[in-house]
Amino acid sequence: MPQFKTLDDIDVSGKRVVIRLDLNVPVADGAVTDTTRIDRIVPGLRELADNNATVAILAHFGRPKGDVRPEMSLAPIAPALEKALGRPVRFVATDWRDDAAAAAVNAAGPGDVLLMENTRFHPGEEANAADLAAKFAALGDIYINDAFSAAHRAHASTEGIAHLLPSAAGRTMAAELEALEAALGTPKRPLAAVVGGAKISTKLELLGNLSKIADTLIIGGGMANTFLAAQGIDVGKSLCEHDLLETAAGILKEASAGNCRIVLPVDVTVAREFAANADSRTCDAGDVASDEMILDVGPRAITEAKAVFDEAATVVWNGPFGAFEIPPFDVGTVEAARHAAGLSRAGKLITVAGGGDTVAALNHAGAADDFTYVSTAGGAFLEWLEGKPLPGVEVLRG
Ligand code: ADP
Ligand code: MG
Repeated sequence: MPQFKTLDDIDVSGKRVVIRLDLNVPVADGAVTDTTRIDRIVPGLRELADNNATVAILAHFGRPKGDVRPEMSLAPIAPALEKALGRPVRFVATDWRDDAAAAAVNAAGPGDVLLMENTRFHPGEEANAADLAAKFAALGDIYINDAFSAAHRAHASTEGIAHLLPSAAGRTMAAELEALEAALGTPKRPLAAVVGGAKISTKLELLGNLSKIADTLIIGGGMANTFLAAQGIDVGKSLCEHDLLETAAGILKEASAGNCRIVLPVDVTVAREFAANADSRTCDAGDVASDEMILDVGPRAITEAKAVFDEAATVVWNGPFGAFEIPPFDVGTVEAARHAAGLSRAGKLITVAGGGDTVAALNHAGAADDFTYVSTAGGAFLEWLEGKPLPGVEVLRG
């Protein structure tokens, strides 16, 4: 796979740098409520300013769909960014039809940091329009993309602009690409993949791609029910996509033909209702009663997953093993995650995970910090697992 340039390949001193960031952070009553994303990108931003670059930040916020929507302004983000950075951040109001952004950059000097208004206030952003990309490119001499989470979209600020300026991956983008490339591109084997979560319909391409790459594929969560049903097992009232039984059977067949071992839960935790601390019991996957639903994997399944991790050199993980939001159906996810985390901490296992609920589940298990890499990129991470080229990454290669 061709390499991509990073900040190490570019001298930014005295240059005007346009950087694309992910500032789509939670905001309530005009204040940022969770600074995780900001804290991740700030060191790379500080490096640019410390090296005397004039920094123009491009970012989107929400889905204004090409209109100027004041409630989706990036203005409230500037104070949070300023605080994390320890430097002034000047917010630049623009509707991207006027020339306010260029005027602000022209008036700025080395070390100045400017936050431009929501790029999606102009319809050209999501349309990847050439004129808007040119307008973005005119703000700098160099383009840095540090928003991996937006890289699966070919937008003017993520893709179009990179054709017009010397471009490189920012620090967090480079770290994310390195971790994902190490896990899936040239993984240390054996490679085990864990795919869980609610439904297989949302993860068909992901299952297809991972079963081609991984040596072992552990299937958990609600989607395992569909695979069990495809093998003729009665899953009672469990979440199950009965219209996808043939698809599930096809995935199992292809995987075994391609030498990927598929591990389905041998036992399960079931309940009659989907509620916290509902009466539950453990049984073999084949012994679910017609009025019961599977809400987690059982203890033997957990032991089997741990044994796969013990043998593996790399684990890629998306999707919880059970309905982890509701105790006690978090046990499978928590125990397996803690085991993987322990192996990682001991230097025996590379662990890469991502997905909105997966990140929440790993945090709940107290396992996230010991994982080698936890991606917060959401859709971009999933498309990477699906084996799709990400336009915002491809354009940085070469
Ligand atoms: P991610 O966001 O990490 O990609 P998903 O959105 O695919 O993960 O799946 C997470 C959801 O799957 C959680 O809300 C969890 O409660 C649900 N889930 C997992 N196992 C089951 C199950 N056996 N029955 C019903 N829901 C389940
Ligand atoms: Mg989810």
